[in-house]
Amino acid sequence: MPPPLSAPAASVDAPPALLDCQSCGACCASFRVSFYWGEADDAPMGTVPVTLTQPVSPHLRCMSGTQTQPVRCVALQGVVGQQVGCGIYAQRSTTCREVQPGDEQCLKARRRWQLD
Ligand code: SF4
Ligand code: SF4
Repeated sequence: MPPPLSAPAASVDAPPALLDCQSCGACCASFRVSFYWGEADDAPMGTVPVTLTQPVSPHLRCMSGTQTQPVRCVALQGVVGQQVGCGIYAQRSTTCREVQPGDEQCLKARRRWQLD
């Protein structure tokens, strides 16, 4: 999932990335992004701003904007498929951190957005 819009471009020494999250954002605008409620910052060790989330069940919350159609996480900045960033990158949930460029969820989201 995409780093902030202000994030520096990859180092010239870094190996070329297969897929560039900063010009994508499809996974943040395709699925419900839910996670254990304790990851929200109204819990002692939580980081995700609770004001950007909605309850899903007694044990789950999700990012606002990802529970209804058209899906778009409220923290996503920019234009999907052009230039995007996550407004809460350092505070994002484990669900967001688990999606990796090129994995099954990523490719499914990119297909939805016809980016492949
Ligand atoms: S769909 Fe894949 S390439 Fe696009 S932002 Fe998500 S992880 Fe990155
Ligand atoms: S919190 Fe950030 S990484 Fe997670 S879905 Fe929203 S915009 Fe994407």
